Amino acid sequence: PLPKALVEVRDVDRVFENVHAVRGLSFEIQRGQVVGFIGANGAGKTTTMRMMATLDLPTRGRIFINGEDVVQEPEKVRRLIGWMPDNYGTYSYMTVFEYLDFFARSYGFKKAERTARVKEVMDFADLTVLADRPMDKLSKGMGQRLCFGRMLLPDPELLILDEPAAGLDPKARLEFKNLVRLLAQRGKTLFISSHILSELGEMCDTLLFIDGGKLVYHGASETLKRGNGTDVHGALQ
Ligand code: ATP
Repeated sequence: PLPKALVEVRDVDRVFENVHAVRGLSFEIQRGQVVGFIGANGAGKTTTMRMMATLDLPTRGRIFINGEDVVQEPEKVRRLIGWMPDNYGTYSYMTVFEYLDFFARSYGFKKAERTARVKEVMDFADLTVLADRPMDKLSKGMGQRLCFGRMLLPDPELLILDEPAAGLDPKARLEFKNLVRLLAQRGKTLFISSHILSELGEMCDTLLFIDGGKLVYHGASETLKRGNGTDVHGALQ
């Protein structure tokens, strides 16, 4: 049987040389949830997400994705997740198609299957009209959709997005919200960070609010938006 929660974070700490970035963090994410991760700059969001994505190690505590320990089974975990960092890199000499095809190859898709998958992803992320465009001629929003597309190639179950809406214009932000909605409809689980509550509120069914590395709220996004005594607005920009 499948483990009950898709994500289980158990009493995790992350201490850098002189910074206690994450403190006693525990939470679960269930399959199919769209969870917002809210906190001010430096609250510990990126650190938490990097540990979930097997890119950093907890100082203490354990993290399981689909029952697999991120430290002991990083390869298995990487097959389950898509990770979108806040500063994704691009290879400017490639076109949109070439970039996706390059990554599809690195994911081990064979030729025929690869072309089909790249087409499917371009269609989904509204990239088909941009197929032949070099990456350095993409707007921020287009570049972000490309990064989204790349992440979707291996069809991961859990998508971890670090500040995906930062720097997007209103139109690109709307397109991003639509992608999130479509993915949620397809049963994907999403974990999305932001330091702006209004950016995530409507997209997410659940919110986690982190402050000084500690979880201070975990519940329905509606409750937090109405104000439940937690000083969200004081801690957020
Ligand atoms: P932001 O929105 O600015 O990315 P955040 O909530 O993602 O903020 P983190 O990037 O997780 O916050 O940082 C949490 C704290 O840990 C900060 O004080 C940061 O300076 C510190 N930190 C993060 N990574 C390192 C590192 N590699 N070495 C030392 N300190 C670090």
